Amino acid sequence: MSSTVNSVWARCLDSVSREVSGIAFQTWFQPLQPVSLKQEGDRVELLIELPSRFYHEWLDQHYNKLLHDTVNGVVGRAATVAYRIADRDESQAPRHEADESGIVRRLPPSPGRNGSKKRQERLQVSPEPRPVPVQYAYSEHPLQKSYTFETFIEGDCNRLARSASLAIAQRPGQTSFNPFMIYGGVGLGKTHLVQAIANYARTYGTTEKIVYLSSEQFTAEFVRSVKNHCIADFTQYYRQTDLLIVDDVQFFGGKEKTQEEFFHIFNDLHQRNKQVVLCADRPPREIAGIEERLLSRFQWGLSADVQAPDLETRMAILRNKAAMSGLSVPDEVIDFVAQRIRSNIRELEGALTRLFAHARLQNRTIDLAFAYEALGDLLQESPTHLEIEDIQRMVADYYHLSPAIICSRTRKRDVVNARQVAIYLAKQFTTHTLEYIGKYFGGRDHSTVIHSCTMVENRMDVESAFADEVTRIRRSINGVKS
Ligand code: ADP
Ligand code: MG
Repeated sequence: MSSTVNSVWARCLDSVSREVSGIAFQTWFQPLQPVSLKQEGDRVELLIELPSRFYHEWLDQHYNKLLHDTVNGVVGRAATVAYRIADRDESQAPRHEADESGIVRRLPPSPGRNGSKKRQERLQVSPEPRPVPVQYAYSEHPLQKSYTFETFIEGDCNRLARSASLAIAQRPGQTSFNPFMIYGGVGLGKTHLVQAIANYARTYGTTEKIVYLSSEQFTAEFVRSVKNHCIADFTQYYRQTDLLIVDDVQFFGGKEKTQEEFFHIFNDLHQRNKQVVLCADRPPREIAGIEERLLSRFQWGLSADVQAPDLETRMAILRNKAAMSGLSVPDEVIDFVAQRIRSNIRELEGALTRLFAHARLQNRTIDLAFAYEALGDLLQESPTHLEIEDIQRMVADYYHLSPAIICSRTRKRDVVNARQVAIYLAKQFTTHTLEYIGKYFGGRDHSTVIHSCTMVENRMDVESAFADEVTRIRRSINGVKS
């Protein structure tokens, strides 16, 4: 049964992930645990465990219909979804005490809650969305235990962000990095790093009250506290934290009231040397819709960016992931995946996970041929993963030259030939502008790019050996892409 419930849930997650944003998926669906799938006569019931009561309200309010439709679709008939709250005693703990995972949990003010009975109750979800119960709910965002400094691979792309994070984790509020902001594109390790700070602080007890949440959760809670007339309670809670981590602050953009509330909380924490850590998907200055005074506060301490990892770091990440999964992956496969997926670590991991899954399902050994086969469509969907430098390298290989010489000023015939072919193929295989391509080829201007393309096309029309040459190179590039 457990394998059935797990596979049903895996299919539900897969389907939900296509319907909601990545952040919503990560926040609201990934932490859910399938418990059982019961069938009595015609009735099927899927029981899911939620990390906290807050999840129940949120799911019920926002995703009730989606969840039902998804489960019905996957199970293939009308099914009931039931929830139960993870086995934690919410009401017995004193207010604001850290729970066993170290994350401060605020206790619901309602006097009607009494722990053990409530804990065991199963919360039935109505088949159709219904109004949210008017009740204040509090944030409790579980940390990923695996997001630690040990599992975070350091590279040039993230060195500053990582070392500052570690310094903060060791002495929250006592460094000059307050606030500390990590910014950078999606899937580059921001959430991993800031959760590593929280995990470290918890494990080594470097501070007490730790709260990690996304700006979306903060906003949702604020809105709720306004509705329920308990703003004072809400602010008080955040003012009592020693380490407040707010992820994805770009979502504060345009939310003036929330920003104002956060501004006051921020000031209060900062004045008392409490640590504030923030993440954003772009540099603070580029976040639209954030008030100037808050923006300037974001930049008081230290901002560090995370960039797309270089090849070496990508390979190290893959090796580490493979080792953690206990599977042996040949170096050439690590190299293959790292060469082709370059922009985003989440995708890099996704490719490896897919390789593992396919290998297990088909009972195959992971080798290069298998990797080609298993990852084919993944790579095809991402044509931009092929970059000018790949093309330069492949053309250079073909002509037994170095990429550097292709970009140099030399006018030797064989080099000019290779350079023109590489420029022509760069124009064909990437979406970059003529200017961009020219710059990439040793700072040439766009007219050189046009000239190279014309030359290659003209020669291909009249010189069949040359046309064959270009076709062969094109094929090898296609081989990488597909
Ligand atoms: P972001 O918050 O920037 O969108 P995440 O922190 O969610 O990105 O990272 C995406 C995935 O990549 C996570 O599973 C994370 O563990 C992994 N990851 C990112 N950077 C690294 C790294 N340097 N070493 C190991 N894993 C990483
Ligand atoms: Mg993130």
